[in-house]
Amino acid sequence: MLEVKNLNVAYGDTQVIWDLNLHVEEGEIVTLLGPNGAGKTTLLRTICGLVKPKSGQITFCGEDLLSIKPHKRPEHGLIMVPEGRKLFPKMTVEENLFIAAGKGKVDSDTVDWIFELMPRLAERRKQLAGTLSGGEQQMCAIARGIMGKPKLLMLDEPSLGLAPIIVEQVFDILLKLREKGITIFFVEQFVEQSLGISQRGYLLEDGRIVLEEDSQAMLGNDYIKQVYLGI
Ligand code: ATP
Repeated sequence: MLEVKNLNVAYGDTQVIWDLNLHVEEGEIVTLLGPNGAGKTTLLRTICGLVKPKSGQITFCGEDLLSIKPHKRPEHGLIMVPEGRKLFPKMTVEENLFIAAGKGKVDSDTVDWIFELMPRLAERRKQLAGTLSGGEQQMCAIARGIMGKPKLLMLDEPSLGLAPIIVEQVFDILLKLREKGITIFFVEQFVEQSLGISQRGYLLEDGRIVLEEDSQAMLGNDYIKQVYLGI
């Protein structure tokens, strides 16, 4: 579904992604792990078109993604839930969802499904997004992503700032999205939990993929155990 080949990305003279290759197959959940500053957000932003790469190719569902304008990429089924959620705080939950669907394009089946999947959000549908708890805001951001009918949903650290029990709920939602046929590529710092719901993982360090394995193998990898799990 997604293939990134020989990708190089720089901010001015500072290169932050080096010859990066990765792929996400339809139906998978794939985790991108890495320490702060490794280039994870930059990679997601490059795939979305918010950052222009220096060189490389990105193919999405057989199309040359770099030739598709950034604002058109969601229509092709590529949607990102950004780090920090980026909701419209003065708009209600419902308004945040509807605006993501586009004028006249609100699909009531999708809305019903979202509220079934996230009953807490349903209860708060008329509440201003800025007044939601961190976990509810993350749910709302994911729900907003779903409104665009993604084939591939990319999430940048959905667990950021959330209590472990809420992280579990968020990851549970990701599993349910996959059951519905949405492919997921997400950035995480919670190594064990994210690999626990994924088929495969990549480890990015200093802008380079240093490890690519299926999730179980990654969890058993000595380097991951020592450096990222502290065991
Ligand atoms: P974190 O886990 O802390 O969010 P990350 O792996 O997502 O980190 P990025 O945010 O992609 O890392 O940053 C990678 C590098 O690129 C960092 O050194 C950062 O300072 C630099 N960087 C990111 N955005 C910009 C920008 N707009 N201009 C210049 N440098 C940037």
